[in-house]
Amino acid sequence: MGQSCHFKAFLVDVDGVLVKGGEPIPGAREALSELKRLGAVVILTNNSTRSRARTAELLQSLHFPVAPEEVVTSSYIAARWLLDRAGPSRVWTIGEEGLSEELQLAGHTLVPPQEAEWIVVGMDRSLTYAKLADALRALLSGARLLATNRDGTFPTPQGLLPGAGAVVGAIEGMGFSPEAVVGKPSPVAFEIALRVAGAAPGEALMIGDRWETDIHGAKQAGLATALVLSGVSSPAELPRYDPPPDFVAEDIGGLVKVLTERVR
Ligand SMILES: [Mg+2]
Repeated sequence: MGQSCHFKAFLVDVDGVLVKGGEPIPGAREALSELKRLGAVVILTNNSTRSRARTAELLQSLHFPVAPEEVVTSSYIAARWLLDRAGPSRVWTIGEEGLSEELQLAGHTLVPPQEAEWIVVGMDRSLTYAKLADALRALLSGARLLATNRDGTFPTPQGLLPGAGAVVGAIEGMGFSPEAVVGKPSPVAFEIALRVAGAAPGEALMIGDRWETDIHGAKQAGLATALVLSGVSSPAELPRYDPPPDFVAEDIGGLVKVLTERVR
């Protein structure tokens, strides 16, 4: 961990790191400001329902210092991946506004399902049988399938609700698999976030609360990692995390304290 004081960039998860149950985690705002003094900060979230701009707005409403250009959502990742892979494409989505918005901003065209080259799937709180039937017809006619992420559930103030993984699972249940699932833990998510941060993998620290997505994924992409215990992970689970995170802290405030002490 000799390089630990010299991170050029920090990738920061949202749920369980900055926000919990719709409220800022105590000390997280100050910690984020401090991280911005140490290097570039990119917010990296699998939430596909909001665009980068709306995610920044939401965080700003909780008084986090975050600009839209500092946010990477799985909807943005999907839009960029598709542009890199296939150029501007005709797309149809099962997802919410943030997904359509990011696809259009990247230069893709939203079309009816029967005209789509790609079906892009994210979390959709108005998923219906009719949408699945449209997806099936499009896939049978040769449309390709791209998924934002596979998170089975996501936390809300009311408890866990079905995530994008539930939607992907419904389509897999019809016999079709996505060509790519680009959100965390995919290396694609970290590559695109690092591109936005302007940093190489070895120069960046991923800060997250979920080992399976944030830590394991980032490790595989060559980043250093910090697990915070303010979200879904408990200290009792630490021994079974292999590879282990480089840092473990109570919360992002505690982590930043450790990082800044190393700088001094
Ligand atoms: Mg999280």
